[in-house]
Amino acid sequence: MKHWKRPLQIIVGAITTGIVIGLAVQTAMHASAPPSVSTNATPVESFNAASSDQQDPNVLAMERDIQAQERANAEKEKVRARRAAAGAKLVQSRKNILFFKQSQWSALITTNFSIFEASRKSAASAADRWVRCQICDGRGQMNFCLACGNSGTCSACGGTGQMSSDQMCPACFGTGKCFLCTGSGMMACPFCDDGLVTANQPYPPQTLTVQ
Ligand SMILES: [Zn+2]
Ligand SMILES: [Zn+2]
Ligand SMILES: [Zn+2]
Repeated sequence: MKHWKRPLQIIVGAITTGIVIGLAVQTAMHASAPPSVSTNATPVESFNAASSDQQDPNVLAMERDIQAQERANAEKEKVRARRAAAGAKLVQSRKNILFFKQSQWSALITTNFSIFEASRKSAASAADRWVRCQICDGRGQMNFCLACGNSGTCSACGGTGQMSSDQMCPACFGTGKCFLCTGSGMMACPFCDDGLVTANQPYPPQTLTVQ
C-alpha cells in the first residue's frame, strides 16, 4: 500500500504547488499591470474628471472665484451702459426741466436788473473794483431754486436717481438731487460771483441755460 500511495502523494503535491504558483503569478501580473485607461480620454479630460470626482477644495474655490469675477464684470458693464445712456440724454433732459421755468427766470432778471446795474457802477468807482451783491446779500445764492421748487430734489425722477429699474435718471445723473442747486434748494445767484459784483461783471443770460 505504501509503495503506490507515495507517487500519488507526489503527483497531488505537485499539482497543488502548481496551482498555488499559478495563482501567485497571476496575482503578481495583475498588480504590476498598467491601469486600464479609456482610449478616448485626453490627459486634460482625465485630469478634470479626476478633479471633480475628488472635489478638490482648491479647484472648487478657484471656480467660485472665477464665477464671482464674471458676475462682477457683468454688473460693471451694466452700470457703464446705464451711465453712458444717461450721459447721452443729460443736456436734453435738463433743457426740458428748464423750458418751463423761462418766464420765471425772465421775471427774476427784469426785476433785479436796475439793482445789478447800480452795483456794477458802484464797483467801478470802488477802490477794490467790486461790491457785495445786493440781490443775494453777498451769499452767492438765492433763497430759492427755479428747477426744483426749493426742494433740492430732482424733478425728473423725484429723487430716486432712476427712471426705471435699469435706467439711470439723466437729469441728475443718478444722484436724485436737483442739478441746478445740487440739492440745497438754493440756486446760484445769476448776478454775481460768490456774492461779489465787479465793475465788469457779466450780464446774466436772458434764458436759463444748462451749465
Ligand atoms: Zn448775487
Ligand atoms: Zn434745485
Ligand atoms: Zn433725477
